[in-house]
Amino acid sequence: MRMSRYFLPVLKETPSEAQIVSHRYMLRAGMIKQSSAGIYSWLPLGYKVLKKIENIVHEEQSRAGHLPMLMPTIQSADLWRESGRYEAFGDEMLRIKDRHDRDMLFTPTAEELITDIFRSHVNSYKDLPLTMYQIQWKFRDEVRPRFGVMRGREFYMKDGYNFDLTKEDALHAYNRHLVSYLRTYERMGLQAIPMRADSGAMGGDNTHEFLVLAETGESEVFYDSAVTDLTFGDREIDYDNVEQCAGVMEEFTTKYARTDETHDEALFNEVPEERRKVARGIEVGQIFYFGTKYSEAMKATVQGPDGKPVPVHMGSHGIGVSRLLGAIIEASHDDKGIIWPEGVTPFHCGIVNLKQGDEEADGACEALYKSLTALGLEPLYDDRNERAGGKFATMDLIGLPWRITVGPRGLKNGVVELTSRRTGESEEMPPEDAVKKIA
Ligand code: ATP
Ligand code: MG
Ligand code: MG
Ligand code: MG
Repeated sequence: MRMSRYFLPVLKETPSEAQIVSHRYMLRAGMIKQSSAGIYSWLPLGYKVLKKIENIVHEEQSRAGHLPMLMPTIQSADLWRESGRYEAFGDEMLRIKDRHDRDMLFTPTAEELITDIFRSHVNSYKDLPLTMYQIQWKFRDEVRPRFGVMRGREFYMKDGYNFDLTKEDALHAYNRHLVSYLRTYERMGLQAIPMRADSGAMGGDNTHEFLVLAETGESEVFYDSAVTDLTFGDREIDYDNVEQCAGVMEEFTTKYARTDETHDEALFNEVPEERRKVARGIEVGQIFYFGTKYSEAMKATVQGPDGKPVPVHMGSHGIGVSRLLGAIIEASHDDKGIIWPEGVTPFHCGIVNLKQGDEEADGACEALYKSLTALGLEPLYDDRNERAGGKFATMDLIGLPWRITVGPRGLKNGVVELTSRRTGESEEMPPEDAVKKIA
């Protein structure tokens, strides 16, 4: 992409309404624009990162054998009356009437609709297990939408649902989700710690939230610092292997890590004092096993091996796709701007031309652009006729992992400058070497 053709409405001033760094940088880098409280337009740069994150979520879900699908955002109230949640959801639910005066709503989550789909089409235990998921916009009329995309009213969420014959099978699905979530967050350069949580309105007693530690997080968390040493890494996983998934589950959830709702002071005190941490965290996902709560209320049964109908065991699993942009920035930035982890960066590298219009500099930039693109990388070439200082500031703000600076003086010696956004270190080298280093 060439900057001269891109839409990147960078703000010089820090917007006064933004209280936390991720919100400030997302506005300043022209990633989002608020349209009304907690509702945002995603401008090209923000949209690009959103799609990268979404793509990682899809890849990891499909690796785990879960099926992508899509349900409508506007739903009829009827199913929600059946489950009892039409009342229970209260003011967080956005209620709408259509022209025939029918009660509709904008989906805050989708247990009811998926359960209806399931009961309409699945009759036998032989069709289990089944896990389907979607990545779709949700709406919750939050009392206090704030912190930008972190607590929006409209937000993008992955929600998955498993249907199993037995509790044992459903717990395997739970573990599979835990593993796939660990992989998902790590690919985004994030450490998200599974913590025992409260199931709230969802019901059921097995649930973990995934928290990214950050001072600006809205949850208070208590944990054994040993949990921060755990990483999933690139180990092989067979998602059909019940013991292997259970092993990962145990490894990542045995040490003390809880949100304030489930915090137990006595248990916490058993952790060696120097490892006891109290901090704040951002909830970027949650997994639930809730048994037969919805299947019983909505009569989602299958014929068991003995021919008798049994309600299916279910769980649901969410990832805050749009919230993740905020969480990643909270975890990875400095005072100049965002520092994108490689896995989600909107462009792989920036090219800054110090002297636009200089034949040699222009030619070298074009050549770099071509060779990076040929390698399947996406460069962002600042080809505007602007001061170098402004170009650098923009590149630092939008946080691409690498910057190649090209100027007539360096070119005389056959070199360009390669700068790492994360370390700030610069090195001169021939253009081909810079390309090699990025690829
Ligand atoms: P919170 O405690 O932050 O209100 P939640 O527990 O109500 O979140 P879930 O029902 O567990 O949310 O939804 C799954 C995920 O969707 C959450 O883990 C979070 O990452 C994301 N999410 C929930 N509410 C919002 C929101 N208002 N804006 C952005 N993301 C959200
Ligand atoms: Mg909530
Ligand atoms: Mg929560
Ligand atoms: Mg939650």
